Amino acid sequence: MTTDPEVADELVATIRDWIRKDVIPTASEFEHADRYPEAWVAQMRAFGLFGARIDPEFGGLGLDTVTYARLMDELAYGWMSLSGVINTHTIAATLISKFGTDAQRERLLPILAEGDRRAAFSLSEPDAGSDTQAIRCRAARDGDEYVLNGTKMWVTNGERASIVALAAKTDEGITCFIVEKEPGPTSGGITVSKNIDKLGYKGIETVEMTYVDHRVPVSAVLGGPDGLGHGLHYVLGSLELGRINVAARAVGVARAAYDAAMHYAHERETFGVPIIKHQAIQFKLAEMATKIEASRLLVKSAAEKFDSGERTDVEAGMAKLFCSETALEVSIEAMRIHGGYGYTKEFPVERYLRDAPLMIIGEGTNEIQRIVIARGLVARWAEEHA
Ligand SMILES: Cc1cc2nc3c(=O)[nH]c(=O)nc-3n(C[C@H](O)[C@H](O)[C@H](O)COP(=O)(O)OP(=O)(O)OC[C@H]3O[C@@H](n4cnc5c(N)ncnc54)[C@H](O)[C@@H]3O)c2cc1C
Repeated sequence: MTTDPEVADELVATIRDWIRKDVIPTASEFEHADRYPEAWVAQMRAFGLFGARIDPEFGGLGLDTVTYARLMDELAYGWMSLSGVINTHTIAATLISKFGTDAQRERLLPILAEGDRRAAFSLSEPDAGSDTQAIRCRAARDGDEYVLNGTKMWVTNGERASIVALAAKTDEGITCFIVEKEPGPTSGGITVSKNIDKLGYKGIETVEMTYVDHRVPVSAVLGGPDGLGHGLHYVLGSLELGRINVAARAVGVARAAYDAAMHYAHERETFGVPIIKHQAIQFKLAEMATKIEASRLLVKSAAEKFDSGERTDVEAGMAKLFCSETALEVSIEAMRIHGGYGYTKEFPVERYLRDAPLMIIGEGTNEIQRIVIARGLVARWAEEHA
């Protein structure tokens, strides 16, 4: 998929205008109240963002990854949580697009593109985050059904989701299931056992979900019988896109922190001059802007590679690692530039600083990214020198 550059620019400009006009003025208010942004989610749906990466054949916008990443950057510039509503949905849609059977694609992708029923992605467990092989959630075959039992942790958008892309163990190994449920605290044998209170990434729910003898039809196995035991491979492939999403939203948060700092540096005076006149502040801003530009280019490069259909584990990992560390660094520098006021809820920098750490953890921690990058580099070296 390659998006016409004019169409891409127009869409990005539309989202940017909307974010500036409608979201930014009250984003911190929603965030402090931990309030779900119903109207903004409805607007994102009207823009077609839930089908951003779904083929037009199934009612989606069919955007390329470069354009998708630009949109996530714009959303996160306003409020990082908005890009989080889209992310798990898009990971699930990507799993179905890439690995689903024809029947799964034809039935589920139009629903996901429409965006009324949204999706969550559920791999992590209380005792299995980085160590994905260690998951214990079990799917036991019983006639034409699978019976799910286990506890899943960190399910972002889990309570409101109607569809969950779930990793569970079957006799064949880890298998991905597309579990359809009712939004809400319970559905069949699924219960939202805890709503996790977070430092940031507020407004949208991240929950613990328990499955007790929850039955799904065999048709819920992603990819049909051929998908049995291949779930981890599918999931890790789709996480490349998730990492590009996280990298792009890190750029958005970093840009927002930088702009807030630049603005404040022109307003605040010390020793008779605006603080922008102090070289110490200028150097901070120079460093911040340089790293943001490098981050933006890394996201673009990883997105282009993903669009080419090549394996992107190294590039997506590099983008996610560098951009998220940059977002954290830039948001703390922005806070320093604000002095004491940066430590208050009056200015949005405290929100950026609470949102930024999620990106060093989510979609695989940055320690794990370094492992993924190094492993990929070594494999490429071996291939090139065989
Ligand atoms: C707000 C939030 C939302 C999330 N949303 C989702 C979601 O929607 N779906 C989902 O499935 N998951 C989600 N996650 C889970 C996330 O992907 C995991 O938290 C992450 O993968 C880390 O797993 P863990 O928390 O179990 O940490 P652990 O794996 O226990 O790691 C603890 C520490 O040890 C380090 N470490 C672990 N193994 C190694 C190693 N081999 N070498 C070096 N260091 C290592 C880690 O980097 C980390 O610093 C979310 C997490 C958060 C915080």
